[in-house]
Formats: sequence, structure tokens, C-alpha cells
Amino acid sequence: MSFVELRNLTKSYGSSLRALDRVTFDVEPGEWIAVMGPSGSGKTTLLNILGGLDRPSEGEIRIGGRDVARLSAQEMNRYRAEKVGFVFQQFHLIPYLTVVENVMLAQYFHSCADEQEATDALQQVGLGERLEFYPGQLSGGEQQRVCVARALINQPELILADEPTGNLDEVNEALILGLLAELQRKGNTIIMVTHDPEVGRLADRRIELHHGRLREVSFFPLHEEELFDNLLKRVWILQEDSTERELELRQLPELRENRATLALMSEGGWISSDQTTLTLTEKGCRRASEIIRRHRLAERLFHDTFGLPEELLDANACKIDHTLSAEVTEKICTFLHHPLTCPHGAPIPRGACCANVQ
Ligand code: ADP
Ligand code: MG
Repeated sequence: MSFVELRNLTKSYGSSLRALDRVTFDVEPGEWIAVMGPSGSGKTTLLNILGGLDRPSEGEIRIGGRDVARLSAQEMNRYRAEKVGFVFQQFHLIPYLTVVENVMLAQYFHSCADEQEATDALQQVGLGERLEFYPGQLSGGEQQRVCVARALINQPELILADEPTGNLDEVNEALILGLLAELQRKGNTIIMVTHDPEVGRLADRRIELHHGRLREVSFFPLHEEELFDNLLKRVWILQEDSTERELELRQLPELRENRATLALMSEGGWISSDQTTLTLTEKGCRRASEIIRRHRLAERLFHDTFGLPEELLDANACKIDHTLSAEVTEKICTFLHHPLTCPHGAPIPRGACCANVQ
């Protein structure tokens, strides 16, 4: 049984408009789903039904085994307060309550308002210093972080986010996406509406709505991890060719195109970046040198051992470099007698197995 099960979910307004038209899909626990589609395609309607803010006209909806469409009004309130965390595009903070009070309000339905818990949640989103501020005194990005803290407070099973970065600039978008990524790593299930393909790409799976119909469930051809490594490789190689540690972002068009990944790299401390420049951090250097090492060793193996022609080396090495384990990499390096360069003459970063080799 899946965590979320939708079967022929339909929401009609009047006799002719179907905001959702027989939508069927499953979500596994811990998945991050992006719901995409043009304006008016039913995304918000779907999210509201998932969150118990609205009821379907027809069809089945089960979440964690619960038949959500058939809950009584009181059970629905409870479900919403205890099991779901909402993050909206409009922040919906109460202007005359402080930040910490706004978060505590979400606990109210949970019957125990615990200031310490609210404070902890705000610290998690980096707002520990802003507890007594009012929403009006915060930037948009900070207000959205309060909303994330508020969504987390009851340890919800399901996080529903409707265009959570729609009103934010790139820096704050990065922060919020970083927080969502962290929540997923902790095991939360996330369903996020976005019209931005770059933001949607961060999810495990993308669901597209079109006139209320589920049009397409596409898996991403390139896994985020792989893209991440490829971008790190690019940065490393540019750095090899340059005398500066700091690179100009405009030298890296692929990074700007993949700005969601750029955001995650920056959030995770692999790179430090402002609007125009980018530097690999120590942690980023370590990961980049490992992936470059795997890549160039793979090229050596394909070239020296399998006799693959030079023009095919790079593409073939790319196919396997992100999957080689540390053990296999050491074995390849040892097998090849710890080569110093790839077949194109670029240096291969040294590994642990090279320590005693002259
Ligand atoms: P999206 O979030 O993808 O932009 P919505 O889910 O908000 O789309 O809306 C889907 C369709 O349902 C739209 O045509 C919208 O006008 C209609 N709709 C949404 N809510 C209502 C409502 N309460 N009454 C009538 N029509 C509505
Ligand atoms: Mg909407």
C-alpha cells in the first residue's frame, strides 16, 4: 500500500467545470513530488484536497491508510492540524503576532503550545535571532522560512507546498529549496506545486496536470546526484585551466541554467557563490577531486585496457564515473599502476592507494 493513493479523483464546479478530472496516482513514503502544469490546471485544487482543505466530488483519496474524503468535519480538522504541514506562496502569517507566536499558533490545534518546540523549529530554519520580530519586519524569504518552521512544528507526515518559492528572489529560493531537500533527507514526504521546471527538477518525480487531467508522469533522465557531480567536474576543470580560485559564473552557463542545483550546491557547502562569482569550498574540492579521479581513471581503463578510441573516452567515462565505489576506484588505480594523467594528459588526483607509490 502506498502512502498516498488517489483513484479517479474528480473535483467539479457547477455542471461543466472539472478542476480535477479522474486523477489517479500513488506517492511512496519519503518521496518528493513536483506537481506541474499551467495556471488553472488544478494544481492548487489537488493540494487543497490532499491537505483536507477541500473535498473531492468523486473518487478516492487515502493518505496513510486514512480515507480522507470521508472524514467528518471534526476528524478533518484534526487530520489537517496533526498530519499535514502547509507552505503557501502567500505566507499567511498573522501580522500582530510575533514570529514565535505565529509558529506556536500551529501547535494550538495540537493542544499543547510549547514555546521551546517553536523556538527549535525556528532555529532549524535559521531564524533563532528573529523570534520576537513581527512578520512585517522580515524579508519575504525570512517570512517564508517562518512558514516552513510552522509547517514542521507538529512533525507532519505530509508536507504540502504551493509555489513555495513563487514570491522569492534567487537567494531565498535557494534557502527554501535547501530546507525542503533537508526535510526529505529526514524522511518527510513532500508534494510541491511549482510552474518552474528548474524547481521541479529537484523532486524525485514530476506529475503534470493539464485541464485537470494527469497528463504525464515523467522520471528525470539525469539523476540530481549525477548532474551535481557533472557540474562539480566542470568547475574543477575550469579551475585547472585558470590561475584564480574564484571563477566567474558567466564562464559556467550550465550552472546558471541549472540554478536549482547551484542552489543546493551552495546550501550544502560545496561551493560559495554570490551573484557573479563561484569558488569551490574545501568540501567541494574534495568531492570534485574524487569524481575527477574516478572519471580520469575510467578513461585510462577504457583507453589502455579496452583500446577504446580517444573520442569515445569522455562520454563512456561519464556513464560510470559517478557510480564507481571507493574500493573499485582503488582497484582500478592499482591495476593501472597509479597513472599520473588521463589519456588526454590531464592530471589524475592522487588517492589513498597512491600513498606509497613514487
Ligand atoms: P492552478 O492552481 O493549477 O492554477 P486551480 O486548482 O486554482 O489551478 O484551479 C483549477 C480550475 O478550477 C480553474 O479553472 C479555477 O478557475 C477553478 N476553480 C478553482 N477553485 C474554484 C472555486 N472555488 N469555484 C469555482 N471554480 C474554481
Ligand atoms: Mg495555484
